[in-house]
Amino acid sequence: MGDTILVTGGAGYIGSHTCKALAQAGLEPVVYDDLSNGHAQAVKWGPLVQGDVRDRERLARTMSDHKVVGVIHFAGLIEVGRSMHRPDLYWDHNVNGVAAVLSAMRDNGVARLIFSSTAAVYGTPAGLSALSETDVLNPINPYGDSKLAGERMIAANCAAFGMEAVALRYFNASGADPDGELGEAHDPETHLIPLAIEAALTGSRPLTVFGRDFPTDDGSCVRDYIHVADLARAHVLALGLSTVDQGFEAMNLGRGQGTSVLEVIEAVGQACGRPPVYSVGDRRAGDPPILVADPARAMKRLTWKPEISDFQTIVDTAVAWRLNRRFGGITTLPAAA
Ligand code: UDP
Repeated sequence: MGDTILVTGGAGYIGSHTCKALAQAGLEPVVYDDLSNGHAQAVKWGPLVQGDVRDRERLARTMSDHKVVGVIHFAGLIEVGRSMHRPDLYWDHNVNGVAAVLSAMRDNGVARLIFSSTAAVYGTPAGLSALSETDVLNPINPYGDSKLAGERMIAANCAAFGMEAVALRYFNASGADPDGELGEAHDPETHLIPLAIEAALTGSRPLTVFGRDFPTDDGSCVRDYIHVADLARAHVLALGLSTVDQGFEAMNLGRGQGTSVLEVIEAVGQACGRPPVYSVGDRRAGDPPILVADPARAMKRLTWKPEISDFQTIVDTAVAWRLNRRFGGITTLPAAA
């Protein structure tokens, strides 16, 4: 059997896809998740330990019980909008979660960590060009603040205690497992692609486009959508990286190409065979016009490249999952769909 990797938040969307990728690479994922947002049915490639990520003793015990040699830390809160209303929760879970993971790792002599970070650490980019890791880090919401604090805590631990860590800054994770085993099942769902699919297939919840007055070609926001299975593979590669820069490296994971909200709606309409019902509303607080990654560093350091992140595959796999999903609020489609 291969090395055992602790995956906090491994029952969630990106975490579960990463567990599948770990298993495919011959590694054994042990999932640690409180199931507040994750799904027990998504834990298919190793054991599930149900626990709070701020519980350092439980984490330490899990690491020693399972002889863990590395950690991938996903567990945390992820909604920008909610972080504006409940910053207390975001600072508590996201910062104390990292502190607990690091402490448990030190107790067990586990030295390798991959951290789930985000493009939100950049805040609102000054220009419209692709973001690189050397750009200014200036989050504009408690979610981004708490993730950047986590990165900095990890970097300091690497320098002081000889740990090695990679922070992966995701752009827009999207799509679903091409084999149909896993997919996106947030409750409530706030992400554009699943909401657009729901609007096209059921019309039960009309979609609102958050602003059409941005300085972009069609006036709607542009984002860099990257397939979740491509993200998952990058975590496995990052586990094998020999880090430089005192043990801590941060890298962007994106496709390097932007897609506008209206282009997403068009593509979802094509894939579903009927267009999503939508209206145009106000901008959402804190939405920059364009967020596109320069993924050159990850491509070079991890010898990684997006393989199934063409936009058609992202949408097709997401629609297939919606029509046949195995967990998370299964709803019945009307007969016409
Ligand atoms: N968006 C939208 N309507 C929605 C949800 C999202 O217009 O109901 C837009 C949002 O303003 C952003 C893009 O879709 O420009 C992607 O948003 P999402 O919440 O999926 O991901 P985020 O970029 O916030 O991580």
